[in-house]
Amino acid sequence: YFCAMQKDTLVFDLLRKELDRQRHGIELIASENFTSLQVIQAMGSVATNKYAEGYPGKRYYGGCEVIDEIETLAIERLKKVFNASWANVQPHSGAQANSAVFLACLKPGDKILGLDLSMGGHLTHGSPANISGKYYQALHYGVKKDTGIVDYDQLEQIALAEKPKMIICGASAYSRDWDYARIRAVADKIGALVMADIAHPAGLIAKGLLNDPFDHCHIVTSTTHKTLRGPRGGIIMLRHDFENPWGLKDPKGNTRTMSQLLDLAVFPGAQGGPLEHVIAAKAIAFGEILTDEFTAYGKNVINNAQAMAKAMVNRGYNLISNGTDNHLMLIDLRNKNLTGKKAQETLDKAHITLNKNAVPFDDKSPFVTSGIRIGVPAITSRGMNEAHMETVAGFIDKVLTKIDDEATIAGVKNDVNTFMKQFPLYPELG
Ligand code: PLP
Repeated sequence: YFCAMQKDTLVFDLLRKELDRQRHGIELIASENFTSLQVIQAMGSVATNKYAEGYPGKRYYGGCEVIDEIETLAIERLKKVFNASWANVQPHSGAQANSAVFLACLKPGDKILGLDLSMGGHLTHGSPANISGKYYQALHYGVKKDTGIVDYDQLEQIALAEKPKMIICGASAYSRDWDYARIRAVADKIGALVMADIAHPAGLIAKGLLNDPFDHCHIVTSTTHKTLRGPRGGIIMLRHDFENPWGLKDPKGNTRTMSQLLDLAVFPGAQGGPLEHVIAAKAIAFGEILTDEFTAYGKNVINNAQAMAKAMVNRGYNLISNGTDNHLMLIDLRNKNLTGKKAQETLDKAHITLNKNAVPFDDKSPFVTSGIRIGVPAITSRGMNEAHMETVAGFIDKVLTKIDDEATIAGVKNDVNTFMKQFPLYPELG
């Protein structure tokens, strides 16, 4: 990988440095993971050379016979992972997947209802800064102040009063499971579609470790690079295809089923040529998810998250909703007199990587924030177990309690680097 064939040493030296950074540090960013080496190899393959606009068997370019096999394999494996009847593996990212769903289902100005960004939601669920909030009329529900749990009563109230065309569930910084059945019941009262964006917990849902959104939500989107542990990318899935409820038509004026509309929305609606090297890597990742080894991984992620939550609570940290059902937790640092920004920047110096995060009802700006988000998917992939969570929590607490003490921070950095030596990352790369 880092061999003499590489001529652009400037870039490859930087990639080597990035590998070293990943090896030596503790990665707690909840949306990150370490893919297998074969996933990385597929992304660095000759499939990057190929144009393949269209879908398997219906391409706008010649020479797609092998690419067709790769993409079909990715689709079939993904359908198996989630017991879906239809899947599109072409979205370049989670944001692209969501945009394509909106393009398929909505007209500009239509109302959508999603979890507020400041309460743990995602930018693409109607933030004014994102296309979802600029082209559509975005409404938001939140979490309850006393419990940190999604306020389903508020969701219902807004839905009944405003009658959005689509209700979006899923989040980026929410540590609890979702009541998909409740959301669907609300949507059915107003004839709305439900889209579940399972980008964060998808790998746990795939293994039956969390509630299954597929029977309740009309459309499910995800990224492939978080708990699914694949390459960076997006996917869209249906368990049950259906006639679209508003007689939406394709660009030629034909009424289509939802799967056909979604395919058209991804290409040619929102994207051009698919990234077939990434789709090859997605196929590999989906194959890995189907193994028993990945079932064990999913269980370890949940066990580690709970152990980490307990270790942080024992050290006096306030967790939003007081715990976690999934792979992450959100910590309110106000009782420690710290901002998220300061915590993130200082932990970085000790080679512990996580992100500052707004907490619900935060009084600080999104650039400062009162919280941090901790996720365990990446350290679980490194091979850590519940006992290691105690050590990691100890490192974090040591830095945060001595936030301006450079010597302590340098000491923790050395301890972190030594600790991480027992969890080799891509040893094949030398
Ligand atoms: N949806 C959710 C819930 C996310 O958390 C994210 C990424 O963090 C996305 C969508 C967007 O994914 P991407 O960064 O691949 O566009």
